[in-house]
Parts: sequence; C-alpha cells; structure tokens
Amino acid sequence: MSATPEVTKRSPTRFSIRIIKLGISILYFVRNRFYCLLFPNRTGTCVVLYYHNVPSPYRKRFEQQMRIVADKKAAIDITRIDDLPANTHSIALTFDDALESFAENAVPVLVRLRIPATVFAVADAFGCNPGWGEGYYFPKERVMSSAQLGSLPYSINVGSHTLTHPYLTALSWEAAGEEIKFSRERLEALLHRPITLFSFPHGDFNDSTVRQCQEAGYEHVFTTEPVLVSGGRAQFVVGRVSTDPWDWLLEFYLKIAGAYCWQPYTQAVVRNIRARFSGKKTLRGA
Ligand SMILES: [Zn+2]
Repeated sequence: MSATPEVTKRSPTRFSIRIIKLGISILYFVRNRFYCLLFPNRTGTCVVLYYHNVPSPYRKRFEQQMRIVADKKAAIDITRIDDLPANTHSIALTFDDALESFAENAVPVLVRLRIPATVFAVADAFGCNPGWGEGYYFPKERVMSSAQLGSLPYSINVGSHTLTHPYLTALSWEAAGEEIKFSRERLEALLHRPITLFSFPHGDFNDSTVRQCQEAGYEHVFTTEPVLVSGGRAQFVVGRVSTDPWDWLLEFYLKIAGAYCWQPYTQAVVRNIRARFSGKKTLRGA
C-alpha cells in the first residue's frame, strides 16, 4: 500500500525505490518469459492483488486498469485459487478496509466489467474514520456502513479484516483470537453468508496468528507479501501484491503478470542479514 499521492510529500528516496523495483521487475518478467519458453507445460499460477482506497480523482485510472484485466479474460473469483488450470495465469482482486471509496468508485466499474473481487471488512468499524490509515488516505475517507456492505452485489465476496484493525502480533493470544474469531461471527450474522477468508491488518502475522485463523475455521488467510499462487491447491497463507489506482501502467502490467513477486527473496535476505547482526531468530511476517 502506498499513500494517496495528494496526502504525501514527494520524496526522491521513495521515487528512487519505485524505479529500482520497476527495473528489477522488468528483469524478472524477462526471466519468467524465458522460463515459460523452456518449460511450456507448467502448473497454473495466480497473482492476487490488494488495493485499499479508490478515491474519486483516480476512478478513471482504476477503470483503465480494470479494462486491461477484463481484456485478458484472466480475472477469477478468489475462491478458485485452489483449482488453477495448468498453463494458465489468473488474476484475483482484493480490497482491504471496506472503504466508501471502494463502494462508490470501484464497485460500479467491477460490476460493469464483470470482474469478481473480495473486500476485507473491519467488523467493528462501520461508518468510522479509518484512523489506522492516517497519512495514507484522504481525511474525508470513511469505512462503509454496515448497510453499504450488506448491499454489495453478490459478485463481491466479503472476508474478515478483524474487529478493530490492530497489529495482531502485538496483542495477547486471547485478544488476537477474539479479533480473528468474533469478526467472522459478526460478519456472518450481518451478511447471512459464510465468511471463510481473512486478511491480516498491516500485513502483520506470525505462526501463532496463522494457527488461530485455522482454528477459527478460515479457509485462506491473506498477507501483504508478494508471493505468486502456484500449483493445484493454494497454501493456507496466500501472498498478495500491493496495487494502487495511481500505479504507472507499466507497473500495473508487470504486477498482474506476477513480475513483482521477486520481493520475498530479497526480504528473506534482508531478514537473515538483520538476524545475523542482531543475533536473533526471525519470525515470518513480524
Ligand atoms: Zn487494512
């Protein structure tokens, strides 16, 4: 997730990092194309994108991105990641925080272009100002009301994003369990449909919170680590690629192709270097 351009100062450092990531992704894309030529028979893959807000000034840009997805005829409902056909590459869309700008600017586009999507809702924050997104969202951005969430079209799947959007690993085991379990129960009672998917606020998770999600009955949990889904049945923990309506078109093309999925390799290297210098063992996602 990157901050809405209007609410953050331009930073040469941030711009340089963006260019470096773009350059590496181009190289990774070329490497993947060669790999496909060498090994034409391969398992199905899926890139799961995650958005947050879609502010009104960026509705057209978002629509442009969705037209690219629609033209590729590769968009799938997230529940199909367990059954990816061989030799195909699919795209699944998710939206965290269930914001009003998603309902007002993204949903009409998704419905018109017949693209399925999943929104992850914070079950105790309906109609609230999303304080956790301060510095990222327009100040007027709000979380959808429960009535708005309930009136979303059926092509929009709903998952849980906890009760209050905390850093789960900073909570006690009991408190984290309540956020995970009760948010599911509250959304099911509100929507009268099963809630089987969960995404970690702030991308913050560890082995303990993953286990608690399994015990709470979720079928998949979603992180912010850009990992491609590959093979017949997806892992319980599914990675996603951060995407925004203000992404450059080249960035967007590379993201939907899975070319930003090199980042976990470098993150693992950085974690190992840090662990070596600090002398501590690293935790996944901490
Ligand atoms: Zn969130």
